[in-house]
Amino acid sequence: MESKNSGTLIILSGPSGVGKGTIIKKLLKKLDNIVLSISATTRLPRRGEKNGIHYYFISRDKFIDMIKTNGFLEYAEYNSNYYGTPKDSVNNFLREGKNVILEIDVQGAFKIKNKYKNALMIFVMPPCVEDLYKRLRNRNTESGKEIEERVIRAQREIELSEKYDYVIINDSLSKAAEEIKKIISKN
Ligand code: 5GP
Repeated sequence: MESKNSGTLIILSGPSGVGKGTIIKKLLKKLDNIVLSISATTRLPRRGEKNGIHYYFISRDKFIDMIKTNGFLEYAEYNSNYYGTPKDSVNNFLREGKNVILEIDVQGAFKIKNKYKNALMIFVMPPCVEDLYKRLRNRNTESGKEIEERVIRAQREIELSEKYDYVIINDSLSKAAEEIKKIISKN
């Protein structure tokens, strides 16, 4: 599955609202030879999200078809929606020797690590968990129920962070991106 010259999978997880998206944008600018895998999801696009850029927004039926035809490297259910990593595009990037960032939840992360032993698991932690929950509760992108589910989810994800290779505290987005860049560069 992993040949000597293939790229590395870089798993980036962290609770909803911690700033993973901004960190990834910085990493894509700072590092050569790195790409972001675009996941498929059954959740609806948020304001400003574009199909093929943020996610492939697909129907539940199409998602289930892709599960049946073995189209995902991993997939998980998160707050009643499916999210999955398309297999072909990731494998093509790896074969080309590119490093691939997967921005996925903890369930997906452990599934990938089981298959790809060299995958780097990096967890982005908020400096203050209470502030994160406050921020999530105050943001206008989800319904109240959805936000509460995300807070509960975040608590569980933080508990599992100790199983990651690296935990990076995001007290400054630039510093966190720089630390992750160093980790990727030395591997
Ligand atoms: P959001 O709805 O906030 O975009 O994402 C919810 C959660 O799903 C986040 O933790 C995100 O990292 C995770 N996620 C996004 N894409 C995938 C994927 O392809 N697989 C898995 N397992 N999780 C994903």
